[in-house]
Order: sequence, then structure tokens, then C-alpha cells
Amino acid sequence: MDKMLCLGFESTAHTFSCAVVEKKDHRGRILSDVRRIYRPPEGQGIHPREASRHHIECSSEVLAECLKEANLTIKDIDIISYAAGPGLGPCLRVAGVIARTISSYYKIPIYPVNHAIGHIELGKLLTGANDPLVLLVSGGHTMLAAFKGKKWRIFGETLDITLGQLLDQFGRSLGFASPCGKKIEDLALQSENYVELPYLVKGNDVSFSGLLSATKKISKNVADACYSLQETAFAMIGEATERALSFTEKRELLVVGGVAANKRLSGMLEKICTRQEAAFYVSPIQYAGDCGSQIAWTGLLESTVKNGAKMSDTFVRQSWRLDTVEINY
Ligand code: AMP
Ligand code: MG
Repeated sequence: MDKMLCLGFESTAHTFSCAVVEKKDHRGRILSDVRRIYRPPEGQGIHPREASRHHIECSSEVLAECLKEANLTIKDIDIISYAAGPGLGPCLRVAGVIARTISSYYKIPIYPVNHAIGHIELGKLLTGANDPLVLLVSGGHTMLAAFKGKKWRIFGETLDITLGQLLDQFGRSLGFASPCGKKIEDLALQSENYVELPYLVKGNDVSFSGLLSATKKISKNVADACYSLQETAFAMIGEATERALSFTEKRELLVVGGVAANKRLSGMLEKICTRQEAAFYVSPIQYAGDCGSQIAWTGLLESTVKNGAKMSDTFVRQSWRLDTVEINY
């Protein structure tokens, strides 16, 4: 098969990103991936309207940089893809409008992509995982998924806030700038004093909101609080992951999403994999969080079974669960 080039757009939440990925047979190669991240004022969360303004303002610069880095012009691009959901409405619409405009003006086929599937597909490409149990831990997701019968099936998820939100909301309560995961990871390394916190796994689902409230109450000693928060939350995730590995009998675990960058989480999960005789894969840090490459690569996979979407099917969906998407490639 000839080589194909896809220009992918991501703007589901805090990140605006454009990337060009090349597909040759089954192999994918990232030619460029440019991002700008909206940073809310210290102590505050994402304001969807402010984030969307950020994305609009930086979009043409990011696109130009992305094409320049790949040494291409728009006319070289074979297909376009964009993250159509799930995410924040005003943010999602930025990539949606840009992708649709370029697609219709230059007559390039367009592919709406599910953001969560983007995380998973790029993780598989970059690690070589073949049929993994996937742990997706990010700002927008906390779930365990495995592929069966054309769909990613969920084997556990959060009942309230995500793991990324837990870390970010705790960090913001201390006045840190969001996202706070890395700062909490660094602070946690300064303590080994575990303060008991609520641990809640229901069936194979986790609940973090009580843990968030309780951690705020012990935040006088910041390092102890960060350490105890990580130990508790990651142990909960570990328990659910180990049970899902055992139940699904998958021989691989793949961790994707922004929180996959956390070394303590990886360390715990790696031990679980050794015990369950499963191979452990984690997305490279640079591509763990939201980025255009996730969307571009998934667009290329979709293009092997579809000829692009009709313009009337290129809108965005704030809620779009990955287990509702039928996958035929
Ligand atoms: P995403 O939504 O996939 O872009 O992931 C963003 C989330 O990843 C935010 O909640 C961050 O706080 C979190 N994150 C990024 N780096 C780390 C880290 N080293 N440890 C824990 N969480 C992290
Ligand atoms: Mg994400």
C-alpha cells in the first residue's frame, strides 16, 4: 500500500495540538506534533470559554509550525482528522471548525475521532502492545478497557472524578497551577510517612471524591499529604487493574493518558504485571498526554475501512463513550 499522510487536530480540553503522521502498510511515523497548553491562573481549573479562546488564538501558528516541521504543505495531506469528543464543548468546536473548513476548502477527506481511542491507538503504536488490557488515566478518563467483538469494553472506571482531576483539584486547593500531577509526584518523593486515607473500590470501580476531601484535611504537611494521596489512589487503581488482568486473561497491560507519566504509578503496576505474568507497557511521556498524533494515527486507521465522513457528520460530542464506538479496522 502507498503511504498516507494525515493531519490531526486535538482540542478536547487544555491542549491545542496539530500533528502529521505517516502510515506505510501497518507502520506509523510521527512527522511533527506541535502543542500549546492553556494554563489557568494558579488555584483555578479550566474555564472552557477561556481555554477555547486560547486554542483559537494559537491555532494558525500551531498549524503553520506543524506543517513546517514536517516539511509539507496542506496540499501534501491525504486525510484530516479531529478529536470529535468527549471533551469540553467550546474547546472541541475549535478543532472541529478548523478541520471541517480545511477539509471542505481543499477537498480532503475528514475523519472524526474518539479522543479516548486516540490515546489507546497511539499507545499501541508506540509501545508495540498487541492485545492489551488498557488503563487510561488522564484529566478526562479513569478506565480499564479491553478489546472484544469490535468494541473496547469497560472493565472498571471511576464513579465520580478522574485520577487526573483528583491530583489537579488537590493541587489547586494548595494554590498550585493546574495541571498539578508532576508537582504532586515531586512533593510525594519527599515523604514516606503514610497518613491513613479513605480507600474505596466498589466492585471493579473506584471512587475518589471522598479521598479528595480527606486529603485536603491533612494538607498541613504537604509532602505527607501528597505521598499518602498517591499511595492510596494508586493502590486503588492497582487493585482494579490486577483483578481486570486476571479476569480478562490479557497477557499485556498498556497504560496511557497524562497520569501514565507518574513513576510511582508505573512502579506499582509493573509489580502487578510480574505477578500476573503480563507484559507491561507504558506510553512514552511525550505522547502520554493529549496530542495531535493520537488523533492523526487513529484517523489513518479509520481510513483503511472508511472513505471519510459526510460534512453533516462532522460535529462534536461532549459525551461520547469509547465503548459505543464500533471499530472495523
Ligand atoms: P491528559 O488529559 O491525558 O492530557 O492528562 C492530563 C493529566 O495528567 C492532568 O491531570 C495532569 O495532572 C496529569 N499528569 C501529568 N503528569 C503527571 C505526573 N507526572 N504524575 C501524575 N499525573 C500527571
Ligand atoms: Mg486525554
